[in-house]
Amino acid sequence: MKKRTQLVHGGTKRSQWGELSEAIFLTQGFAYDSAEQAEARFIQSGPDEYIYARYGNPTVRMFEERIALLEGAEDGFATASGMAAVNGALVSMLKAGDHVVSARALFGSCLYILETILPRFGVEVTFVDGADLDQWTAALRPDTKAVFFESMSNPTLELVDIAGVSALAHTVGATVVVDNVFSTPVYSKAIEQGADVVVYSATKHIDGQGRTLGGVILGTQEFIRKTVEPYMKHTGGSMSPFTAWVMLKGLETIDLRVRAQTSTALAIAEAVSGHDKLHQVIYPGLPEHPQHGLMLRQIGKGGTMVSLDLSGGKEAAFRFLNALEIVLISNNLGDTKSIVTHPATTTHQRLSPEQRASLGISDGLVRLSVGIEDPDDLVADILQALAQA
Ligand SMILES: *Cc1c(COP(=O)(O)O)cnc(C)c1O
Repeated sequence: MKKRTQLVHGGTKRSQWGELSEAIFLTQGFAYDSAEQAEARFIQSGPDEYIYARYGNPTVRMFEERIALLEGAEDGFATASGMAAVNGALVSMLKAGDHVVSARALFGSCLYILETILPRFGVEVTFVDGADLDQWTAALRPDTKAVFFESMSNPTLELVDIAGVSALAHTVGATVVVDNVFSTPVYSKAIEQGADVVVYSATKHIDGQGRTLGGVILGTQEFIRKTVEPYMKHTGGSMSPFTAWVMLKGLETIDLRVRAQTSTALAIAEAVSGHDKLHQVIYPGLPEHPQHGLMLRQIGKGGTMVSLDLSGGKEAAFRFLNALEIVLISNNLGDTKSIVTHPATTTHQRLSPEQRASLGISDGLVRLSVGIEDPDDLVADILQALAQA
């Protein structure tokens, strides 16, 4: 089956009632036919044999199987949030004395795990500029156990070369863990390109309608079942069956949504390109973007996010946000509703001005997450707000 078909039918498990839509198995436990069956299941539970929802649940399993098919991964483990996925992927495989190399431009909570939590447990972390392969080469050591990066960074949409970093990391035997949220599972070919483990915040494009928090860790069956599952099932970061059902229904439409969002994002980037209120339009789908070639090789499309750097700094950015009539001011992304964020005063407020400057986050930078509204309405809204900026 091709991906669009798998997204509708993949992983489906029907009960004896033959329900058309996937059932929500809102149950934490499972009754056994006999004491012998309970004993056997605790020794070794087979596929579709469940014990307790923290370990696994039929609705959660349907979601894991469907997203694994989309990603082209052998297996997956669904988690309570994107951060439970990042934490689970890293902490389940690391121990005191290990070394990790990570890109510096990270989502705030990812940075907290790598900069604060892992070192507290004796893991040494070296940070590099993710787009610079020479820095990865210099930082990797024989004891490097894992490398971590976001394949497209927030909010400056800088790409990290998955194939390039993976080839380098594998020379020292390190496991490559990619947070692929901004690239989206629709365009991802991360495993084919060398990543060992791919994590998503399912809160973003997978739900795609701003309802639930969730995440998923994808990788080989060996890694998911032997390393991730024992850690997750005993530490409590599993996804709830209700959330898994929302995410399953999200997967049915993700391809249609993300492709529409991407095509509108390109239309917006083209419409505002060269605008006199803008210092810069950042969109990897524009031919003039410095990483356009890498973007074509790695994901093939520019994605659903566009960042605009307003020449007038914070005042102009605030006037722009406040003038928007359709686009909402919020900090989710990948949603059907278009959303605008001012990173310097919200998501990246905690960083010092110097840190923000080193990450390219100016006071005039705004991040747009493009939704599924009519493209003409969005372009008109953005142009009228820019006129007032
Ligand atoms: C949102 C996000 C996360 C965290 O996901 P939650 O579902 O909010 O826990 C991690 N990485 C990236 C790149 C994100 O955008």
